Amino acid sequence: MKQTVKLIVGNWKMNGLAADLAGAVAEMLADLKATPASARAGLCPPATLIERMVRAIDGGPIAVGGQDCRVETKGAFTGGVSAGMLVDAGATMVILGHSERRQEFGESDALVSDKVGAALQAGLMPIICVGETLAQREAGEAAAIVRGQILGSLHDGLTGQDWALAYEPVWAIGTGLTPTLDQIAEIHAAARDAMIERLGDGGRTAPILYGGSVNPGNARDILALDEVGGALVGGASLKAADFLAIIRAA
Ligand code: PEP
Repeated sequence: MKQTVKLIVGNWKMNGLAADLAGAVAEMLADLKATPASARAGLCPPATLIERMVRAIDGGPIAVGGQDCRVETKGAFTGGVSAGMLVDAGATMVILGHSERRQEFGESDALVSDKVGAALQAGLMPIICVGETLAQREAGEAAAIVRGQILGSLHDGLTGQDWALAYEPVWAIGTGLTPTLDQIAEIHAAARDAMIERLGDGGRTAPILYGGSVNPGNARDILALDEVGGALVGGASLKAADFLAIIRAA
């Protein structure tokens, strides 16, 4: 399905200080205000910056999101941040199940699904990440792995809500490597089938973002693919010129 309004979301990971609000974010904002983009844009900074970024954007054309949340709403979870806390800070979206969290923190599909439920309960738009490792791709298992992650990580409550899937091959994240356009199209089609298998008609409309070494040089071709509804951008979202170029390519 061709998605006309694409969604471009930046994942700052553990990068970003207050100075970046006066720098990169101010530059992005000025540019998008001067010439409105045809794509929706979002930035997910570290939790420490969410509230200040929301204030800096001040209702402008960039949504702000978190990079994770806990399932629980509050309690004795040192270091944890709940979905409600993200909303309280001004976030409207949250990345869940990023491969770095699946790998570093052992997050399972079932946990990701519970986090999706918590995010929906709090009123956040979940961006649910899936993707195969290099070994899985080389074994010819990419589509099957992505299908399994989708069946396990989605949540019944997604139907009728604003949410997105992000296909991020683990081997393409932060490496400068990307799948071929045919490979992206093939997995996005398989992902759509799995979304429908899991949610019925509720799986038909959510955008499927591509993530993994998207940059100003490759964004236009990737975003032109019918089943690519946008991009989840790591490294390139830290530089205003690069992130703007990707937004403008959509
Ligand atoms: C990511 O971490 O979600 C990501 C896509 O990173 P990068 O664009 O740097 O590969």
